[in-house]
Amino acid sequence: MAELRGVAARLAAIEERIAGACRRAGRDRMEVTLVAVSKTVGPERIREAIEAGVRVLGENRVQEAAEKIPLLSLAGSAPRPEWHLIGRLQSNKARRAVELFDAIHSVDSLKLGVRLDSLAGEMGKRLRVLVEVNAAGEESKAGVPPGEVLPLCEQLQRLPHLRLRGLMTVPPYLEDPDALRPYFRRMRGLREEARAAGIVGADFRDLSMGMSNDFEAAIEEGATLVRIGTAIFGARE
Ligand SMILES: *Cc1c(COP(=O)(O)O)cnc(C)c1O
Repeated sequence: MAELRGVAARLAAIEERIAGACRRAGRDRMEVTLVAVSKTVGPERIREAIEAGVRVLGENRVQEAAEKIPLLSLAGSAPRPEWHLIGRLQSNKARRAVELFDAIHSVDSLKLGVRLDSLAGEMGKRLRVLVEVNAAGEESKAGVPPGEVLPLCEQLQRLPHLRLRGLMTVPPYLEDPDALRPYFRRMRGLREEARAAGIVGADFRDLSMGMSNDFEAAIEEGATLVRIGTAIFGARE
């Protein structure tokens, strides 16, 4: 499929699939934001994606992002994109992360939340954050277990320099995306519970879930942020 080679062509194909999933679920396309995951991808190809219309980029390592973001904020005709941190954040990288990123999807403790709040306060920012959920309760996985999500959200919601926007998960890797639907539904259920309990604000609505292999199922189950890497940029080295 030669026509699918370039970043722009792949993006167009993904856009169609996102729109299709929205239609099937009776959702407005505007409810879903594509986060193009550019980890390991060089600045030239990221620029290609920006020029093809990508407005949000996701990186999983602070150090790598710190090298690329400055190169991509300069010049060019396209508007400055947003940058989201989607990978685990160590507290010694928190300051740099708050400087670089518009949103952090991977908050998994009150301690990290408090640190981000104080740094954001120092920098006069309000930082968008999501709580990472270990939806399947996997041993070696980042994120908080489902049972701890509401208490953590309640505490994070009180931090004045954070904007608690929702939940994120990286489900187990399974070939069949349909097998992940129970995890996606669980995430949606947690969001509804937090809202019903009145412990989060009106802008607690994001569900960051769905990757190259499973984003259509995730959208059908309520995803608002899909994090797609290889389907846009090709396989990583
Ligand atoms: C790499 C990564 C993605 C993108 O994965 P693809 O399968 O390449 O789409 C999404 N989310 C997180 C947290 C990642 O680290």
